[in-house]
Amino acid sequence: MKKCIFCQIAKGRRPCFKIYEDKNYLAFLDINYFTPGHTQVITKKHYRWVWDVPQTGEFFKVAAKIARHYQKFFKNSWVASIVWGKMVEHAHIQILPAPKGTDLVWKRNKLTKAKGRMLAKKLSLEQSSSEAKEPSPISAGQNRSKHKQPCR
Ligand SMILES: [Zn+2]
Repeated sequence: MKKCIFCQIAKGRRPCFKIYEDKNYLAFLDINYFTPGHTQVITKKHYRWVWDVPQTGEFFKVAAKIARHYQKFFKNSWVASIVWGKMVEHAHIQILPAPKGTDLVWKRNKLTKAKGRMLAKKLSLEQSSSEAKEPSPISAGQNRSKHKQPCR
């Protein structure tokens, strides 16, 4: 999908503040956030709806991993989630952490580059991951050779 912004992010053609990445999924901060840490979890392959993703369980496990990480990271917080699918026509699960007592206000805020970099560094699951930074020779030869690494 050429015009799909999430496909462009997944292919590394647009920058993002990356939180998590594996072979099939990518999570990054929403630059028009509802709460600081508002994260989009997407499939790297284009699907219109979350319910079109064949590995629904696997997709939600990735979202749960990030949500549980935020539960630990933001103590005294709630971590809400939204599966809406109307704003970007690419399967995505939204994770929204916020301090306890916060009311979710449906007003978007612009994430500045400085704040995005700082938040991504703090929240990233990449650093705590024991996986190697470089793709394995098998995955490097198959999926990644065609595309740039997303979110550098
Ligand atoms: Zn897409």
